[in-house]
Amino acid sequence: MTKAADRVKPFIEFNITEKCNYCCEYCSQGFLNKHEPLKLKNASDEVIEGFLSLLEKLGSEYEVNLIGGEPFCHPKFIETTERISQLGNKMILYSNMSFPVSVFEKFIDAAGDNLKLIHGALHVSEIKDLDKNIQNIIKIKQIIKDKTAIRIVSVVTEENFETLRYIEKELSKHNIEFIYIRLIKQENREITIYSPHIEEYLKIKEHKYNKDMLKAREINTSKVLCFAGSKLLHVDAQGNISRCWSWQSKKEFGYLGNVTEPSSIKLLKGARPCYSPVCYCQHPTARNAYYYSPFTALYRFDFSEFMQKIFSVKNDYSGSKPRKVWRVLGLKISYKK
Ligand code: SF4
Ligand code: SF4
Repeated sequence: MTKAADRVKPFIEFNITEKCNYCCEYCSQGFLNKHEPLKLKNASDEVIEGFLSLLEKLGSEYEVNLIGGEPFCHPKFIETTERISQLGNKMILYSNMSFPVSVFEKFIDAAGDNLKLIHGALHVSEIKDLDKNIQNIIKIKQIIKDKTAIRIVSVVTEENFETLRYIEKELSKHNIEFIYIRLIKQENREITIYSPHIEEYLKIKEHKYNKDMLKAREINTSKVLCFAGSKLLHVDAQGNISRCWSWQSKKEFGYLGNVTEPSSIKLLKGARPCYSPVCYCQHPTARNAYYYSPFTALYRFDFSEFMQKIFSVKNDYSGSKPRKVWRVLGLKISYKK
């Protein structure tokens, strides 16, 4: 194990369901929920079993991020968290905090001391009774165990800023941390910059979460080696495993197998080059998952790609008869079939 590997805090993210009871305008799942809800799926029993076996193999040091959609929309969510807890893995719940306190109570009991954090998001445009929702969060804070923390986040818009300040004030009376999250624009995935009075406030309140998000976009991805794919993993509701949220141009780095077919799983070994032009999420920064290395170019060197540049044979059907076209150092040498 290298020192770089020791600094990484390993985690696996499980998108147990794509379903959600909200239709937030800034979320692709919210959009589908509004227009094509039948396209959103729950993880099947087979996917859940496959995920649990993969987790058992990875070991208990991998933290599990439970995400959706809204995880509580999955009928077997609580039962699954109980089984994760039995494996000894710590869990972080990402929820929109809309389910009743009684449901949270069952979840907190099932997850036990392995529930590290409830990361609740308040989507104000979807909430019918904001004060009731705030009161529920306060009740949840009272029933969580000593080893569990709770923090609430909200996405800032020009319109909701004053409401968020009210939420922050109410939650702070009960020592509940509130984080202002910058909106990521759907069309270009850029981070929003607001009008001056909001920016002034955010400057004081800018949370590490936003800073990590901003820092991720500054990574020169062609120069880093990243542990995503070995120590950071993402499993979607269909059981597909990927290294992170960013599309990788090299196929074997983008798709690492499916949890329902153990023989298909090929996780990356250690830190490997990144094949995305941009890093889109805060996790690799928050978890020390990448580092700049003078050897990155060597890791990126692909011998078969290199040989294809020197020498290639391709079929050419453009003429009256098909023929083979040979290229040596880019120079075309044609041969009749
Ligand atoms: S609650 Fe979360 S998953 Fe659901 S629509 Fe809103 S942002 Fe998307
Ligand atoms: S996009 Fe980010 S998390 Fe994904 S491999 Fe590249 S640096 Fe790592």
